[in-house]
Parts: sequence; C-alpha cells; structure tokens
Amino acid sequence: MKVRTRIAPSPTGDPHVGTAYIALFNRAFALHHGGEFILRLEDTDAARSTSASERKIFEALRWLGLAWTEGPDVGGPCGPYRQSERLPIYREHVAHLLATNHAFHCFCTAERLDGMRQEQRARGETTRYDGHCLSLTADTVAARLAAGESHVIRMKVPQEGSCQFDDMLRGRIEIPWSQVDMQVLIKADGYPTYHLAVVVDDHLMAITHVLRGEEWINSVPKHQLLYRYFGWDMPAHAHLPLLRNPDHSKLSKRKNPTSISYYRDIGILPEALLNYLGMMGWSMPDEREIFSADEMTAVFDLRRVSLGGPVFDLAKLSWLNGQYLRNLPADEFADRLAGWMFNRARLATLIPLVQQRTERLADLVGQVDYLVGDRRCPPAEAFQALKAPSAEIIDHTLRAFETLVDWERDALFDCCQSLAAFFDLKLKDFLQPLFLAISGKSVSLPLFDSLVFLGSDVTRVRLREALDVIGVSKKAAKQLEKNYASYLATRDR
Ligand code: GLU
Repeated sequence: MKVRTRIAPSPTGDPHVGTAYIALFNRAFALHHGGEFILRLEDTDAARSTSASERKIFEALRWLGLAWTEGPDVGGPCGPYRQSERLPIYREHVAHLLATNHAFHCFCTAERLDGMRQEQRARGETTRYDGHCLSLTADTVAARLAAGESHVIRMKVPQEGSCQFDDMLRGRIEIPWSQVDMQVLIKADGYPTYHLAVVVDDHLMAITHVLRGEEWINSVPKHQLLYRYFGWDMPAHAHLPLLRNPDHSKLSKRKNPTSISYYRDIGILPEALLNYLGMMGWSMPDEREIFSADEMTAVFDLRRVSLGGPVFDLAKLSWLNGQYLRNLPADEFADRLAGWMFNRARLATLIPLVQQRTERLADLVGQVDYLVGDRRCPPAEAFQALKAPSAEIIDHTLRAFETLVDWERDALFDCCQSLAAFFDLKLKDFLQPLFLAISGKSVSLPLFDSLVFLGSDVTRVRLREALDVIGVSKKAAKQLEKNYASYLATRDR
C-alpha cells in the first residue's frame, strides 16, 4: 500500500504557520515511506473562501519548499482537488446515506434551533440537535421538499454507548455517542460541510494517513461513523499537538503574528522557518537543533512526536534564523537580500510612494526605512504629547483591523474614518498616533499606503507594541473594551 497524506487548508485569509507545520509533518511522513503528499483545498465555506487566499497558500507553501505532487494547480488522478468543484460527488454520496437510512432531512428553522439550544444550556446539557425531524414520515418529507422548503441533511448518530478509535500518537480514545451531534452533512445552500467532504475526499483520494491538528479529535466519531455507513476502511489518524503562544494559549493572531508571509517579510529564511516548525513537538534522534526538511524526512518517525504543547516563540525562531544567515556565503547572502526586498517587483511597489517626494536617490533610504525594516517604537511620552487620545485610538483601530476581511486601502480608510467620527476628531488628528506607532515618526509616507505595504500582521504587531509602550492598566483595558462595544453599537445602528 502506498502511503498518501494530504494537507487540506481552507482558503480563507492569510496562510497560517499552523498549516505549514501540519504540511511539513504530513510531507515528511509520506516521503519517508516513499509515498505521496497531496494538496486539497477545502473551500466549502463559500462566503469566506477567496481565490486570493488560494494563491497565497500556493505561494507560501512553495516558498517554504513544501511541494505536493497532486493538487488544484498541478492536477492529478484523483481530482478535482478543490471541494467546490466536487459538489456532484458529495450529492451522490449523501443520496446513498439517505437511501440506506443513515441520514435524514431536517427542516428546523434557525429560531427553533436557537430556542432548543437555550433550553439545553439552561438544563446544563451539551447543546446538540434533539432529533425533531427524525420522526417525519417519508410522505411529509417528500411534500415539504416538493414545496421547496429550506432544509439541511443530517447524519444519524447512535444514542447509546461510545465511539472508540486509535490515534497513532495518543492511543485509544473513547467518546460517548451522547456527546456527538447529528451533524449537518449538506447545508441549506447545497454545499457539504467539512465532515462529509473530508471523509468522501480522503477516501476517494486514497489517503492512508490523516495527520492533522488536535482540534479535530472530537470530530473523529462523526468521521468514523461515516466511514462505516459508506462501508469504507478508515485511514489511520494522528492528531498533532497545537502550536501555542509563549503564554501557552493556542497560537492565535490576536496575540502573535500567524501568517507565513509575516515571517517572510521580516526576513526569516524559509529553511529556518521549516527547521523551527520541525522542532515543534519533534526532535531529531541525535537531538541536534539545526536540520533541514530533507534530513527530517530521512529519519522521520511519528514516535518521536511529543504531545506537550509546543511553543512558537519568535525569539527562538530569530536565533535559529541568525544561525542560517551567518552561515551563508557572502554571495548567497546578497542573493537572499535581493530576493527578499530589493528585487524589482518589491521595489516597484515602493517607488510610487516615494518617487514624487525625492530630490536625490539617497533620500529614499530614510523615507522607506520603516517599510523595509522594523521601526523603533517611540516612547510613551511621544504618544502622550499628541492632541488625540493615543491608547483609545490605537486600541480601537487594532480591534477594528482584526476583523477586516480585505486588507485594502479603501477598507482601511473607511474603518479609520468611521472611528474618527466616533471620537469626534478630524481624520488628520485621529491618524497621528497611528502614524507614530507604524512609522516611529510623526511625518512619514501616506499612512494607508504604508499599511497596505506592511500587511495586516506587521501592522497589528506594531499597534500592539505601541499599546504596550503606552501601558494600559487592567482597569483601563476594561474601559476600552466597553467603549469599543459602544462604538460597534453606534456603527450598527
Ligand atoms: N480544512 C481543515 C482545516 O482547515 C482540514 C482539517 C483536516 O485536516 O481534516 O484545518
């Protein structure tokens, strides 16, 4: 049997370091066993999936050197590899589940489901579907479908006993069926949910081993049941430990930059990032810290994965990156520098910002310093000297930026303009603390162009750092939260 593993990212937002981490382990496992590593895009969330995000995933994984042999861009014998192009396949499979009485139509409205969940919560129970539509007769279902009533399709779940499965890393796991919901398989918009699509695709794409993050452990009972309903063998599963922030909470973009492009833009080398991700819960048999992805692949053994939450620490990554940089031959160092920021494509995005403001070529360096490299965050006094309330403005802007879907000039501008109105400030005054936090100077290139150039992760890191420098007490933080809630309320009105 040929080992086949996959990475199955959802193309929503910027590619996450967690995706690269899981990809690295899947690839190392497959290649170590002479197998194949494939890429599948799970874009069943039609509202949030974008082709821009898809492109960024391809770019980021390629930049890291995590190549795949089958995927939406390279094709392969088990395609299509994009779930939105496989809808007839899911429909056909769910029809089989309906015909064999393993799935049922559910017409419950959102209001009924909300009420049901509220009652369950009040009784201290886990919220889950109560089986209301299970009792509908075939005739009623047919009539309601014929009338075009909105509905979903759910899977049936045993009421008694528990589900048992073996995780390659964690051994036997047991989850009582009473905790497993009658999962929606097909949504009202006709799209499959993750649970149906992942099982159908892993089977049809002949995946033999599923290595994924530990957040999916609780989904295994549903998946195991679906494999059984279809009469298929289930691939082996291993749930890798989640990456953590230094405070041990789950790595999240609220606290830490998580996008691969952030690390590329601050000048981390791809081989250093891969090496660092390889150290997350895994170690080389000789415990050495510096190793390449190929060296990892050559000796890869899942038994060397340790389950304690690996901490993704920027300081350690920077140290490791320094080791790589210092060992480069000078010529290669120059090539890397050019490939990073001083290449034509990258310069072409800077030139429109500076050309009309330049008298001598050398002026350019001082103008773009905070865009190309990091800036020094000004001291608290610099913020306090401004007319506008810096902590409030930076805090609220940060919150608003966190929920922005498109990191584009117009969206950023609208966001700041609406906040400035809330603060009853002229836009120019409102932007002052942001200028300082982002560029480290009170005069810099236009702010919104700078934000677009820097991207969302770098921007948010700088705003967070400025808030730390200004210092926000616990009490003040509570007040900021309240104040932001009232901003949201006025905006939604
Ligand atoms: N689409 C899922 C994700 O974004 C894949 C989970 C899995 O590997 O089964 O993480």
